[in-house]
Amino acid sequence: MPRGFQPKKTPISNEYRMTGTVLGLGINGRVVECFHRASGEKFALKVLKDVPKARREVDLHWRAGLNSKHIVKIMDVFENNYSGQRCLLVVMECMEGGELFTRIQERADSAFTEREAAGIIRDIASAIAHLHSMEIAHRDLKPENLLYSSKDENTKVLKLTDFGFAKEIAAVKSLQTPCYTPYYVAPEVLGPEKYDKSCDMWSLGVIMYILLCGYPPFYSNHGAPISPGMKKRIRNGQYEFPNPEWSRVSQDAKDLIKGLLKTDPEQRLTIQDVLRTKWISDHTLVPPTPLMSARILQEEGDVWMDVQEEMTNALATMRVDYDASINIKSLQDSNNPILNKRRKKEESSAAV
Ligand code: ADP
Repeated sequence: MPRGFQPKKTPISNEYRMTGTVLGLGINGRVVECFHRASGEKFALKVLKDVPKARREVDLHWRAGLNSKHIVKIMDVFENNYSGQRCLLVVMECMEGGELFTRIQERADSAFTEREAAGIIRDIASAIAHLHSMEIAHRDLKPENLLYSSKDENTKVLKLTDFGFAKEIAAVKSLQTPCYTPYYVAPEVLGPEKYDKSCDMWSLGVIMYILLCGYPPFYSNHGAPISPGMKKRIRNGQYEFPNPEWSRVSQDAKDLIKGLLKTDPEQRLTIQDVLRTKWISDHTLVPPTPLMSARILQEEGDVWMDVQEEMTNALATMRVDYDASINIKSLQDSNNPILNKRRKKEESSAAV
């Protein structure tokens, strides 16, 4: 596979100056501010331990960001040693506008409308469409990974970041030439690629729901991170559109959410289905109905951390469950000669 990036081996400090300001903390380390010495421009620097998983993350993120307005761009990658530790230093465009929902929360006093929400969902959908067309599933699409490029209302662009769980869906077709039947490739290669992509569609449904009302469709009863009850509600698709928050929201929006939160991933809308809906394709014509989300997000500010944690855990569960079901499914469907023999034997003995 051709590498999308070739890390520089020269010291990053030759080209960039670190300021020590922390822009954000993640599970894999911190994101800090730095300045390009030659241009004086500000960038964000993510430091990762140089392990194969980090290389995959950077490779997918680099390629995904090349041609999409709504994916954070990687500008430079360095491979440097820090106190005996090999590190990947990823220089990204600096997203000075901060997180999507922080911006919405600040809108509590000026009406945030369904039309604006449709524009935001359209932007996120276009990032997903770009990834899915490259056969990449993000699998960690959640509020803290959606950042604005700037604080300026007129120029800000919403972008997706953090490819720590992204997965490239193997190119099955090239293996399926008439003279080459892949008996023995890994089950996930044969398995339905839809599962990984459908994880992103579920996320889009949850984000859209929160955007329209200010709280998530599924939540645990006592703020506990993913309780058994919440898992059950997600699995059974138990959520509602309660009044008064939802009373004026359009039926088109509710139908789109229903299509995205379908419990069976096979039935969930694909990104192409979403782009074809009127609510997205004609988002500028969506009614400018004022929403209650900004005020609710502000009032419920103290539980926002819990909401984020719950979504993180729900996505982790979903990734594990889907990987497991793909393995089972492809074992059933696969053209495994030994299994086929066994099946034939079973059939013939059943016929006797
Ligand atoms: P992790 O994979 O460790 O979770 P992220 O890539 O999600 O790390 O980054 C962690 C946090 O750092 C983000 O939630 C965000 O607040 C901040 N951050 C990440 N990338 C940028 C960026 N390009 N510009 C500004 N802040 C960023």
